[in-house]
Amino acid sequence: MTQIINGGIVIIGGGQAGGWAAKTLRDEGYQGTLSVISDEAHDFYERPPLSKAALKQADFSLSRLFSEEDTAALNITWYRPLRATAIDSQHKQVLLSDGRAISFDKLLIATGGRARYLSSDWQSHPRVFTLRSWDDAQRLREAMLKADNIAIIGGGWIGLEVAASARQMGLDVTVFERQTRLCQRSVPASVSDALMQRHQQAGVNIITDCGDICLDETTDSLSISCDKQASQCFDIAVMGIGVELNLELASEAGLELAHGIVINGQGQTSHPDIYAAGDVACHPTLSLCLQSWAYAQNQAISTAKAMLNAHSEPFSDLAWLWSDQYQDNIQILGIPTAEATQHIQRITPNSEIYFSLNQNNELIQMVSFNDARAIKLGKRWMQNNRKLSPTELADPNFSLMSLK
Ligand code: NAP
Repeated sequence: MTQIINGGIVIIGGGQAGGWAAKTLRDEGYQGTLSVISDEAHDFYERPPLSKAALKQADFSLSRLFSEEDTAALNITWYRPLRATAIDSQHKQVLLSDGRAISFDKLLIATGGRARYLSSDWQSHPRVFTLRSWDDAQRLREAMLKADNIAIIGGGWIGLEVAASARQMGLDVTVFERQTRLCQRSVPASVSDALMQRHQQAGVNIITDCGDICLDETTDSLSISCDKQASQCFDIAVMGIGVELNLELASEAGLELAHGIVINGQGQTSHPDIYAAGDVACHPTLSLCLQSWAYAQNQAISTAKAMLNAHSEPFSDLAWLWSDQYQDNIQILGIPTAEATQHIQRITPNSEIYFSLNQNNELIQMVSFNDARAIKLGKRWMQNNRKLSPTELADPNFSLMSLK
């Protein structure tokens, strides 16, 4: 007979969202059993360094979300490294890969995503790497140290961050992107151009609009071609073509899905005792899955509060993400929408800001290179639907701070 363990509040997923949810539950006074199922052996850790310091620095160690003492103080019953194999939503149980079952009072699904591959040939090739976890970063660093050149498949955020790190480590880098420009889904053309310029200046070979990318041999050598370039040998390749969300458990449990798991402002799914957070949780108002550090953390915090108090404030943060590449800190506020009809650039000696406004001169999206203060201001403008002057925004001598 299957052993059923009382799990109290159960969290599936030991990533950023799972970690912040666990911390928040304890901070908000939850004293019952707190169970976390994670397929990684490590305590909660930060993922942003994985594409940067973890690749470049020999002495870089796991960047913990909370100190060892603080993690121990959470008094978590860990199930790791283990996978949840099914959710029985009717009996409120989670089945584990070792055959056990855990009952839950409330469940949080924070299962994140896995790297997408172009095909199974890429997945099984020993020289093709992905970058989602600490273990992935360790493997990739080892391989980069021995490599002279690297192919990066996909010119999105992973691709560009790894490209910057690889150049800083002295590798020759080629990026293959099927769209006509970099990060096409997340930023306007002017920002794609700015990114392209920086990477080209750093010596990255970027092939946009590359058509089908082919792995020409599946032996130990790695030979890649595309519509625009004949076959070329690379020492290693990294997949950066997005993620497959880990939605299988939610889907088989009968939860409502649309892009990701459908949630309300409290993070609650179509089952009253099951919640979702992070990458898999479809944003309650934007109706898309925001895969960013800030969303994983803040929406998980808000959901954990709601798990204890149904009248807590609904999640309402603006979309925000950041990326560090070379010497630049890039911050993106808001998402691109068809409403954005005006695109304005403000270039100063130390920073660049790209504004997208709607017809009413309200801010829809803002991207800054090296101006975090302006992004803070932009958050307030967006929250208050402030009307802005395109001429003032574009003028490098006009003080944005005067619009506080
Ligand atoms: P991503 O940012 O979505 O970029 C993937 C890129 O690869 C897109 O430009 C995509 O183009 C392209 N692509 C997709 N399929 C392709 C194909 N078959 N051939 C060639 N190109 C293809 O995803 P990612 O860079 O892999 O990152 C994974 C996730 O982690 C993303 O959700 C990302 O936002 C997140 N992440 C965030 C940060 C950060 O916040 N700083 C850093 C790293 C990763 P299409 O638009 O056509 O699909």
